[in-house]
Amino acid sequence: VIPLIGLTGGIGSGKTAISDLLGALGAGIIDTDLISHQITAPGGKAIPLITKAFGAEFINAQGALNRPKMRTLVFEDPQARQILEQITHPLIRQETAKKAFELVKLGVPYLVFVVPLLIESGSWTKLIDYLVVVDCPEETQIERVMHRNNMTRSEVENILKAQTSRDTRLAAANAVIQNQGSLDELKPEVLILHQKILRI
Ligand code: ATP
Repeated sequence: VIPLIGLTGGIGSGKTAISDLLGALGAGIIDTDLISHQITAPGGKAIPLITKAFGAEFINAQGALNRPKMRTLVFEDPQARQILEQITHPLIRQETAKKAFELVKLGVPYLVFVVPLLIESGSWTKLIDYLVVVDCPEETQIERVMHRNNMTRSEVENILKAQTSRDTRLAAANAVIQNQGSLDELKPEVLILHQKILRI
């Protein structure tokens, strides 16, 4: 039995940056955001179910989920969000389990589940042994996401408002990794975290 680590943090906090570094150190990484993109990509397992539930107008010309259109719908309609989640969550769970099994067979020392909304969803908190929270000032999150996603300040602020607060996340953490400096400054922090996890 190997440790099951949860990695979460707000939008643009640096979850991917940290999981990339942990992966390079040999950790088994399962990025649920990536899985959710895979199942809604052309040919993805969720596509036929989404088409059936919402109509073909929610699928773009390439055969992928039309994300902006779906985002607008679920933002306004909680019931639509629930239906979408009833489709995607079981598929994400299934793919997560498959990936976890493959990584364990490869002999990784521990698994890291990268989950943006981990705190919000009870099923994840039950699964994991140890929760790592990535933290940085909200202003840093805003600047990074404005730059990365070409969004306005108020768009990013609205996303931040909809997510769990920084304090709630920090209160649930077993370990906190600060990512307010440069990527070079992050590296030694991640190495320390890796060594700490190996001792769990
Ligand atoms: P999301 O939840 O939005 O997917 P995330 O938590 O995975 O975000 P990253 O994608 O790792 O965050 O980081 C957000 C952006 O900020 C990326 O463009 C990344 O390259 C950049 N970034 C992350 N950490 C740092 C850092 N320490 N210094 C400079 N840029 C950083």
